[in-house]
Amino acid sequence: MTLAKRKITVLPGDGIGPEVVESALEIIKATGTSVEFEKCEAGARAFQKGVVTGIPKETIESIERTRVVLKGPLETPIGYGSRSANVTLRTLFETYGNIRPVRELPGVQTAFTGRKLDIVIVRENIEDLYAGIEYMQTPGVAESLKLISREGCEKIVKLAFAFAIAEGRKRVHCATKANIMKLTEGLLQHTFEEFAPRYPAIESRHILIDNCAHQLAMRPEQFDVIVTTNMNGDILSDLTSGLTGGLGFAPSANLGNDVSIYEAVHGSAPDIAGKNKANPTALILSAAMMLRQIGEGKAANDVEQAVLVTLESGMRTSDMMGADKPATTTEFTQAVIANLGKRSKVSQPKEYKKVELPPPQLGVNVVPAKSRRLTGLDIYIESDLDPAKLAEDLEKLTPSSPFKLQMITNRGAMVFPASGRRVSLVDHFRCRFVLRETRANFGDSEILSLLGTVGAQHRWMHIEKLQEFDGEPAFSRSQV
Ligand code: NAP
Repeated sequence: MTLAKRKITVLPGDGIGPEVVESALEIIKATGTSVEFEKCEAGARAFQKGVVTGIPKETIESIERTRVVLKGPLETPIGYGSRSANVTLRTLFETYGNIRPVRELPGVQTAFTGRKLDIVIVRENIEDLYAGIEYMQTPGVAESLKLISREGCEKIVKLAFAFAIAEGRKRVHCATKANIMKLTEGLLQHTFEEFAPRYPAIESRHILIDNCAHQLAMRPEQFDVIVTTNMNGDILSDLTSGLTGGLGFAPSANLGNDVSIYEAVHGSAPDIAGKNKANPTALILSAAMMLRQIGEGKAANDVEQAVLVTLESGMRTSDMMGADKPATTTEFTQAVIANLGKRSKVSQPKEYKKVELPPPQLGVNVVPAKSRRLTGLDIYIESDLDPAKLAEDLEKLTPSSPFKLQMITNRGAMVFPASGRRVSLVDHFRCRFVLRETRANFGDSEILSLLGTVGAQHRWMHIEKLQEFDGEPAFSRSQV
């Protein structure tokens, strides 16, 4: 009986995408592994044809069937569509974990050569500023919402540890900016600290993201796995790819419970597209990650080893230091194929296991609170008044309201009561009203009444309730 071949959706993508994807496909075929490819469209061409998401229906259907994608970079053409097709793909299939490994490669000369770097960034892939929820709150002040959920943190932390176990790694750092963003970035830190003791064989540490960037530049060999939020991970993983030779060598996997997407970290590099100059290594190594995850461990090891042997042989692509006569994409591909079955002199295949993703939680995930209480309201007001005058106005408008004005901030800094600080003002004020006395029956009608009174005289564009969950304030204090 012949077994059905494992199908994979292939998105050649834009710019250098088709060249590097073709390279990876030729190598996969040459391993003799039993996979079949469904080539689909996504990105610039789809946008030009009027597909607003950049992902045609047929492509979505193919991914739903195969659940595994090997993709080239997709550009986000300015002028078509409002959102990156990459972000749409990740969100559509909830590929919440972005795994970005980098390691020292033979023959790839960098400032860190000889230090045996082998670092993996595990980046949350759905939430954070990447959700792109943005508003112009006034004609001159923009807002981006950074939404971080407990559910998202729990999933990425568990995945980071699952990944560390699968690869036999020893240490997981959690990198956040929790000292400043205590609630959003702090949620990842707290979740990490809560779950880390469940993995006693793995050393766990929290590190502030800015220090992490500094340490990566100074002593990168101390890092093994780093778990972090979406935006931090985006930046940090480009940094780590720079430590080991650049974007041409950085593979990635986007893992979710239903679908996984494998791609290079780099983009479509339009300046070298169509010139047979692109380094296909990042995409070839992404393909190896894919083969490993679909259970083709031998083919994955063979591909990785053939890449190492090719680099050890001195073959260089145009992006590598010391490439006097660089190999074309095609020549590099053919060399890797010729080296299939050979073993590297410096790095033997590792013992990898399939990453076991934590099972998904179904339905709406709720973090319950035993008690919750409304304590006030922030009203965001667009005004060209001096803060003292604005405060006087607001106090005059609300003498009999259950709320009293507590403070006003401008770009996060307190401007009423006056702090004595010299603040460069913009026409965007956060006016914090708190209850004059604690009342159990305080609710939306009082809020709407306050908003009506203030809104009759001032232009407001946003409100935020101030709440307490289980007696803890659920909002940030102002910075003085
Ligand atoms: P980029 O495409 O990664 O290219 C930046 C530069 O890195 C290139 O100009 C090239 O430098 C070099 N480079 C990247 N990959 C290379 C490779 N495989 N071989 C040799 N050199 C390589 O970044 P970008 O110019 O910022 O982005 C271009 C487009 O890609 C944008 O539309 C962006 O939105 C999109 N993008 C997509 C993805 C994705 O699909 N996941 C990711 C990032 C960006 P030289 O000038 O030295 O040749």
